[in-house]
Amino acid sequence: MNIPENLAAILTRIDAARKAATLPAPATRLVAIAKTEDEDGIREALRAGQRLFGENRVQEAQKKYPPLKNDFPDLELHLVGPLQSNKVREAAALFDVIQSLDREKLADALAAERDRSGKCPRLFVQVNTGEEPQKAGVFPRQAAALIAYAREKSLPVEGLMCIPPAEDDAAPHFALLAKLAKDNDLKNLSMGMSGDFELAVKFGATHVRVGTAIFGTRAPQADQPI
Ligand SMILES: *Cc1c(COP(=O)(O)O)cnc(C)c1O
Repeated sequence: MNIPENLAAILTRIDAARKAATLPAPATRLVAIAKTEDEDGIREALRAGQRLFGENRVQEAQKKYPPLKNDFPDLELHLVGPLQSNKVREAAALFDVIQSLDREKLADALAAERDRSGKCPRLFVQVNTGEEPQKAGVFPRQAAALIAYAREKSLPVEGLMCIPPAEDDAAPHFALLAKLAKDNDLKNLSMGMSGDFELAVKFGATHVRVGTAIFGTRAPQADQPI
């Protein structure tokens, strides 16, 4: 894999998709999903100018990013995987954005950590648009209530995130997420992965999360889905 070439190609495709969209999305940012990728690969992407990265596990990110953040202080790190309440302290210390807020208990823990440390990452609410029982995310009909709950606690909710069912056409899921964001006055939409980020741009994605198309095929991660 040539990481700098892949990054450049994806940025070109995002740009073309934005231009082709009937409703042009606002600026779309590329979040490079670097789960399982080692520090060297991430450094290559950083040297090529990439600054936004996503990880799905707190512990893996804790090992990789302290030296990277030290060398590239403007690196912005997003958590895109499920977060357990008992990992909130570690997550809040490391991540700039948590895209997986999906329940009141987690909002409580984030608010408590904010009150304790004065620090809170920016937040996206993850919506389980396919209502898949095994998948993280609040169901669409409960999203407004969770957003309101987090806002009552003055948590910085800035957007929505979804991972459509792998076997579905993603378009209706992206459309639903865009509608929920509009209804709830949220301006950020994190949707689209290696296989469908151009489609997501067409539906207004402000953040696309791309892993394999940048870093190549991943080895499977043990004992946790995705
Ligand atoms: C792994 C992952 C991605 C990236 O998927 P690719 O198909 O490799 O681009 C995006 N979002 C989340 C939440 C992920 O876990």
